[in-house]
Amino acid sequence: MGITTSAVSISSSADGLFHPTYAHDLDRALRFIQEHDQFLVVAHVNPDGDAISSTLAIGWLLTLWGKSFTMVNENQIPGRLQFMANTDNVIIHEALEQANAPAFKAVICVDCADYDRIGSIKEWITSDVPLLNIDHHPTNNRYGSVACIRDNAAATAEILFDMFAQGKVNLDLDVSTMLYTGLLTDTGGFRYSNTTPHVMAIASALLAIGVDGNDIADRLLEKMSFAQMSLIQKGLARLAFSDDHRIAWLYITPEDMVETGALNEDLEGLVNYPRNVEGVEVGLLFKVNTNGRIKVSMRSAGKVNVAEVAQTFGGGGHVRAAGCTLTDPLDDTIKAVLEQVKQRL
Ligand code: 5GP
Ligand code: MN
Repeated sequence: MGITTSAVSISSSADGLFHPTYAHDLDRALRFIQEHDQFLVVAHVNPDGDAISSTLAIGWLLTLWGKSFTMVNENQIPGRLQFMANTDNVIIHEALEQANAPAFKAVICVDCADYDRIGSIKEWITSDVPLLNIDHHPTNNRYGSVACIRDNAAATAEILFDMFAQGKVNLDLDVSTMLYTGLLTDTGGFRYSNTTPHVMAIASALLAIGVDGNDIADRLLEKMSFAQMSLIQKGLARLAFSDDHRIAWLYITPEDMVETGALNEDLEGLVNYPRNVEGVEVGLLFKVNTNGRIKVSMRSAGKVNVAEVAQTFGGGGHVRAAGCTLTDPLDDTIKAVLEQVKQRL
């Protein structure tokens, strides 16, 4: 195979993409993994493509290096992501009858903008346990004993590719598929502004290893479950706009979920509909959970920094994609979020 990870260097890509300490951070992350054993590998709650890909890719490296480890997530892995190798080996915290902690001596946290994003698994982790934090969220506060953060990386999977390249690790098809999936999902199918030359160089290297890009795109971007389509119907029927049409939003109730048989994973992509309307600067999705808490997903066309909006409500994320959870009733929540968005328009 002509192309390997070494063909994609972190010193030869676009100017300004890499902080001078990035190579050093990757080395520290690699050293952390070499020096410890018995890992707990965890990503954020309600995991997306990048969270699961990154969890699995770390697990793949740990297996390669003969380390023992447990992969865990707070919530179920969306069915559409289960085509990746070893998804069966990820323990689901919410499905455990007794949430007894497995034995571990170090933690690797991937794609978690802040420590709370681990969910209730953090109750297993005491402050004396060494923790490696690998992430690409600008709102990451560098928690943990070693932080490897590049906030202009499109995905945590991109940082992991760089880390593998830095450590001269040869990738097989399984891990290449994981990394490609993380890149594909966090770039919206290589369409968002985070799709840099470096991202495309990595995707190219992964395709050269044999990744079936068409199959993954079909599974994750094209195919829709019947429930997902029914949910879109319900959501779009409620699409609402601000007077100036620069903010658009919709909401989903627990009843919608029951009536359509939808799972949380079927909400994927719904927030893009309001955002995609011409002239709309911010698209919002309000998902009311059965416990009354409301998960807000925010997408920006670029003018408004929605990470900032989310942070005012205790959430976080990226400039163009962010989220938070509120406890007020739906009407009040919509009003409060619209107010914060309007202030930034
Ligand atoms: P989504 O709307 O798809 O759930 O999330 C969009 C982005 O915002 C993702 O990068 C996600 O990690 C981040 N995000 C969503 N909800 C929260 C939250 O409650 N806290 C933080 N810190 N980030 C969030
Ligand atoms: Mn991510």
